[in-house]
Amino acid sequence: MTEQRIKTSSRECLIDITEQVKTIIAKSGIDDGIAVVYCPHTTAGITINEGADPSVRSDIVRFLGDMIPRTYSFDHAEGNSDAHIKASIIGSSVNLLVQDGGIVLGTWQSIYFCEFDGPRSRKYLVKVTG
Ligand code: ZN
Repeated sequence: MTEQRIKTSSRECLIDITEQVKTIIAKSGIDDGIAVVYCPHTTAGITINEGADPSVRSDIVRFLGDMIPRTYSFDHAEGNSDAHIKASIIGSSVNLLVQDGGIVLGTWQSIYFCEFDGPRSRKYLVKVTG
């Protein structure tokens, strides 16, 4: 298993980690199998979505913000309940198909680390099995 550190630069952002994950999988030496990319945080997540148009990323952040306002009367007293809910909606991991040493992704797909309570020092984990 590989642990990858990542620094996020704003409270909410989607960071493209596709190239980092490709490098980790290439270093694993496993040509065919499954890779799990996992986020061990309660206010961040991992997703796959369009990588070509950056407005898709900003739309996801903006829409989740409209849907889950930070000012809602949450019981959780840390002031980041919106981030917990957004992280649950996005999910904490993705499964990737590994073939010929690379990731099987659609033409427009990228892998994103999704920050909802940054900026922070974060990490994600990648496990490749053949
Ligand atoms: Zn909290």
